[in-house]
Amino acid sequence: MTDPTAAVRDRALSLPAAELPAYIYDLTALRDHAEAVRAALPGRVELYYAAKANPDPEILAALAPYVDGYEVSSGGELTHVHQAVPDHPLAFGGPGKTPAEIATALELGVRRFHVESVYELRMLAELAARTVPDARVAVLLRFNLPLPEGSLENSSLAMGGRPTPFGIDPAEADESVRLLTGEAYPQLELVGVHAHLASGLEAGEQLAVAESVVGWAVALAGRHGLRLSEVNVGGGMTVDYTEPERRFDWAAYGKGLAELADAHPHLTIRIEPGRALTAYCGWYATEVLDVKHSRGEEFAVVRGGTHHLRTPATKGHDQPCRVLPVDDWPHPWPRSRAGQDRVTLTGQLCTPKDVLARRVPAAGLRAGDRVAFSLAGAYAWNISHHDFLMHPRPGFHYLEGSRG
Ligand SMILES: *Cc1c(COP(=O)(O)O)cnc(C)c1O
Repeated sequence: MTDPTAAVRDRALSLPAAELPAYIYDLTALRDHAEAVRAALPGRVELYYAAKANPDPEILAALAPYVDGYEVSSGGELTHVHQAVPDHPLAFGGPGKTPAEIATALELGVRRFHVESVYELRMLAELAARTVPDARVAVLLRFNLPLPEGSLENSSLAMGGRPTPFGIDPAEADESVRLLTGEAYPQLELVGVHAHLASGLEAGEQLAVAESVVGWAVALAGRHGLRLSEVNVGGGMTVDYTEPERRFDWAAYGKGLAELADAHPHLTIRIEPGRALTAYCGWYATEVLDVKHSRGEEFAVVRGGTHHLRTPATKGHDQPCRVLPVDDWPHPWPRSRAGQDRVTLTGQLCTPKDVLARRVPAAGLRAGDRVAFSLAGAYAWNISHHDFLMHPRPGFHYLEGSRG
């Protein structure tokens, strides 16, 4: 369980039922959080926001004072982020970049690429020569590096250290470095190494990953007599959906990164979190439509569902939530009401997978009560299958209060 801020609670209760469900983004809370994250990191560590976690323009703009740039992973994200936060540095990553996307990126002024394969490296070189012949283009080679021992246990999505479509196999590292340092591609400058190996990692595990990636990059540079200037150690800082109050330990992570940065004074270390920056600021608020008994258990059907908030269905968890009781009842028919202590909250879709949270303590829950689901600011609306069953889209609300 988790408590909405007063502003979120007020909005969730004051919206007319017909304007629910609604996504409510607390931009003040987002700014406070981003400021705290930035403050915990050493000045020399750069912070990019991975836009795919939530590319809402208001969120991108709210983060702008606290981040050094944005990581985009598609042509769509690229043009969108470029428009939403003009003049902020972008790094273009992600697998399967098309020639048209790369050309657009170059035309829009993107000069930092996370290159995913030797094939893509050659494509980038030719397109840069054609599109922006006078520009210097910074390349970070993304490698599929092994995860350090013991750091995999808690990670929910490992994309490194095993066969995956992400990054360059370390066996091709020397070939890709030679290509970049030879005569062939004078426009491309190998500035460093990128690795995003897993998500759902705690601070200690993230530090182990950062140390291992930096160590690997330094060794690669040493073998080739180069000096790399950047290492991007990725995102994947954990968000705990079972204990929303427990947050990633940014202070410990920042302290460890400071030591790592001090040990490599010529290197800019960069991180690119998504989820851990924006998950907390978002709420999905809705209304209970019906409460029913079914073969010994109770279910509350709410307006909306996993076609708006797919996170619990994809991650297989219960989305944390808080019931907001509403005593007024405007209808002539009687309210349906829970008789048991625990109620499973489902959406309006005709599929048993449309479950938002199972067996939530909600004694006395009634039709007409409201529910605010938390941790809905990342991988929530933007990963959901909105059109399934043709229910109306939620409203979007952005709360700006005085800063505490
Ligand atoms: C998704 C992604 C991120 C962000 O991951 P989070 O788990 O949201 O922090 C960062 N970098 C890359 C390359 C990604 O694909």
